[in-house]
Amino acid sequence: QESRRYTGIVEDCCCEYETVDSLNGAVLNPLLQELVTTPFFRYFKVKLWCDCPFWPDDGMCRLRDCSVCECPENEFPESFKAPSKRGLLSDDLVCQEGKPQATVDRTLDTKAFTGWIEIDNPWTHEDETDNGEMTYVNLQLNPERYTGYTGPSARRIWDAIYSENCPKYSSGEICQEKKVLYKLISGLHSSISIHIAVDYLLDESANLWGQNLELMHNRVLKHPDRVRNLYFTFLFVLRAVTKAADYLEHAEYDSGNHAEDLKAQSLMRQLLYNPKLQAACPLPFDDAKLWQGQSGPELKQQIQKQFRNISALMDCVGCEKCRLWGKLQVLGLGTALKILFSVDGQNHQDPPLQLQRNEVIALVNLLNRLSESVKVVNELVPSIEGLVSEP
Ligand code: FAD
Repeated sequence: QESRRYTGIVEDCCCEYETVDSLNGAVLNPLLQELVTTPFFRYFKVKLWCDCPFWPDDGMCRLRDCSVCECPENEFPESFKAPSKRGLLSDDLVCQEGKPQATVDRTLDTKAFTGWIEIDNPWTHEDETDNGEMTYVNLQLNPERYTGYTGPSARRIWDAIYSENCPKYSSGEICQEKKVLYKLISGLHSSISIHIAVDYLLDESANLWGQNLELMHNRVLKHPDRVRNLYFTFLFVLRAVTKAADYLEHAEYDSGNHAEDLKAQSLMRQLLYNPKLQAACPLPFDDAKLWQGQSGPELKQQIQKQFRNISALMDCVGCEKCRLWGKLQVLGLGTALKILFSVDGQNHQDPPLQLQRNEVIALVNLLNRLSESVKVVNELVPSIEGLVSEP
């Protein structure tokens, strides 16, 4: 009962679970996995420090597996610089995951961010045009996974997100827009939990990493609504990407590496105009149904404000790497909301869509994270069902 396979249409969407699973496994996931490794998509610009507007720093920032590699050059141990001395690393490195390639390259700012507009995203708290204090993180070297960030600090953030900003809709709630915000956050939460469970520190003394299926079951799979919200969020973000196809197709994927940039552009086209996707799930989410009622504009403003609060809460996440991925994914969701609710194909009075480079990077990396989670759920549900089936 708990971990049954999901069938039928994904709630409030337009495609079936089975269709999503087969499209994701065969087409979308392989494309996205390759796309996020290209230089254009692997560097994310972010302000990383703890700067919580709601409560004081709770000292969680120093957890070992929490550190993000944006160490200044002088923090790299000599042994990293000279390959012959590898193996002599001490345990108390300032930057535990430090690898020479992970050094932040500040010249990226002028090299790679040219040709893109600077515009603030009304759905997020961060001022995207503020370049001071931003660093560039290589996402490939800082994977989202278990960090040891847990307990009251983490709980406080999720509680604040859920209780202050998007209270779970009551069963009598008919306003779809309010449900959307809750489902997006819940879907993202499921995805984060799945990544923690997939890449978990199983044995600290042996530094052994692997899957923690029990954790995945307890946090996500045994709650069907959390799984459904994950699929919903995936389709919502996928719809945003395809809706912005015109813009994304013509955007300048310039990272200075011509061959890799051409590859990014080609992969992007294959994603945007995929014949299998267009045949099986042409409209992953029907955004035209939202904001249509009389209170539409008011409701949109209210939800925008709530989402900005959620975005501000990311500065309170007391673990650097969780903050990195939290900020990226919330910006990705904010970008999806911006696309779906500011561009109305029918209304020619609307200003044309404009996205920042960082928004595009966040959107695509978020879609990839969600796609990974959907794939894991689809592949693991049957085996976990066997493992944890109750007598
Ligand atoms: P939590 O995941 O903290 O959940 C708290 C409560 O929320 C649950 O008890 C339940 O009532 C409710 N809930 C849980 N899941 C859902 C859902 N899908 N939908 C609706 N309600 C739900 N830890 C890492 O190890 N690595 C990371 O990269 C990481 N990133 C994070 C990013 C952010 C933005 C935040 C806030 C936390 C992050 N954490 C990360 C911490 C992690 O999410 C958990 O908070 C932590 O592992 C403790 O888990 P928990 O069992 O107490 O439940």
